[in-house]
Amino acid sequence: MSLDGNLDELQQSLAGSVIGPADAGYEAARRCFNALVDRRPAVIARCATPGDVATALDFAQAQGLDVAVRGGGHNPAGHCVCDGGLVIDLSLLRTVEVDGHARLARAGGGSTWLDFDPATQASGLVTPGGVVGSTGVCGLTLGGGIGHLTAQHGLTCDNLIGAEIVSPNGEVTHASADENAELLWGLRGGGGNFGVATRLDFRLHPLRRVVGGLLTYRGAGVREALRRFRDVVARSPRALSCQAGLAVDESLELLLVVAPCYTGSADEPDELRALRSAPGLVDDGVRSHSFLEQQRVFDSSYGENRHYWKGHFTSELPDELIDELLSRTVAPGRPPGGILFESLHGAPKDLDAATGALGFRQAAFNVSAQATWQDARLDEEQIAWARETAAAIEPWSPSGGGYVNYMQADEPVERVRAAFGAEAFERLQALKSRFDPNNVLRRNQNIAPLPGAVGKEEHHG
Ligand SMILES: Cc1cc2nc3c(=O)[nH]c(=O)nc-3n(C[C@H](O)[C@H](O)[C@H](O)COP(=O)(O)OP(=O)(O)OC[C@H]3O[C@@H](n4cnc5c(N)ncnc54)[C@H](O)[C@@H]3O)c2cc1C
Repeated sequence: MSLDGNLDELQQSLAGSVIGPADAGYEAARRCFNALVDRRPAVIARCATPGDVATALDFAQAQGLDVAVRGGGHNPAGHCVCDGGLVIDLSLLRTVEVDGHARLARAGGGSTWLDFDPATQASGLVTPGGVVGSTGVCGLTLGGGIGHLTAQHGLTCDNLIGAEIVSPNGEVTHASADENAELLWGLRGGGGNFGVATRLDFRLHPLRRVVGGLLTYRGAGVREALRRFRDVVARSPRALSCQAGLAVDESLELLLVVAPCYTGSADEPDELRALRSAPGLVDDGVRSHSFLEQQRVFDSSYGENRHYWKGHFTSELPDELIDELLSRTVAPGRPPGGILFESLHGAPKDLDAATGALGFRQAAFNVSAQATWQDARLDEEQIAWARETAAAIEPWSPSGGGYVNYMQADEPVERVRAAFGAEAFERLQALKSRFDPNNVLRRNQNIAPLPGAVGKEEHHG
């Protein structure tokens, strides 16, 4: 189907812009973080207003085009781009407004942490976000959000207090504790299933400096250092968030990077001292620095590497699992990528299932096999490594559900359901049936509407 004439018409009706395959900028605009994903949409609608989003959604449905929604383009599944369809690109909606007095931020639907953090830090405020700046604020929040301040202030979505959503029928809906509270519950983990968020509102907390950076361990000490990380976070105060990444270097020596982020008042808490004195430490980059510097410790190049991630939330990290993961990391005989351990101690445990849809806050760790490579000839082997490593983690997962933010597109619906639990999943399906009864927004970790769903207006009769 040729859309040429229709694209002109679409352009006339948008405040933003339309990018077609023949336009300069098309190649850059269709690129996503994961170089494994290489898709060619028929049209990219760069939306500048909620009205533009409604127009683009209407155009796609009238033309029978698949819809993809693009925030920061980080989702490993590549859900932000589709072959032959329409991409709603939110990169013109990157304004972040901060009310320092009310400790509130309003983030545009396409903003990234590179927009958000400097804007809130100008008032000495933060919300717990992602650890790589170019990740989309909305995409990350809608799936949960784990980062350097998780122990202190909870998941990103725990700090979400309001939203402006454009649903596929073009209607703009606001959600907050007082208005459409059920939608707000669903947005806390349920992803981009209910509409396109043109704005999300966040609660902010005072913070300027942290004790953070990276601790690097190498060689035989890595086993003990990883055990130390596990033991430290188990007894850690909530002033210390901590993540760890296991890999091998080019000479196949084990490498562990631990990223603590301490915001308490002690000069050096016992837990940080314990990490610094663990065996195998070869580089101690931990120091007092600004929160913005902490947000750069995991900087990552965009669109250069191929990625396939798979993991599980676990209730523990026993020695047996650590040993298994160490041997799987060296087994390929070349660096396969890495294994990420995100601790969920502290503030996530303050809230319960009534707060939001996500189902993982009671887990101890999110453990993810993150295959990363460049040579396309390694695709099969790398994907197999991630799948097999995840299968080795699964026995320690209470539910079998993974983190929707890290899932690839090939995860079965059972795994998406398990990520929420049956009860929350049914509640999400009811919301989906109201806001997107025809499943227009299905390029995501999909929550299908209930059979025979008729939509919001009809629902309210
Ligand atoms: C390098 C890297 C680092 C990461 N770091 C973290 C981290 O520290 N913590 C963490 O929790 N996760 C992290 N993630 C995972 C990340 O949160 C998810 O992949 C998230 O989906 C990315 O959002 P995005 O907007 O960048 O992605 P996109 O690919 O643009 O969007 C993904 C999907 O999110 C939905 N979406 C995005 N924006 C909107 C919107 N405005 N309205 C409605 N739906 C929307 C859509 O369904 C879209 O298809 C990371 C991923 C990568 C690749």
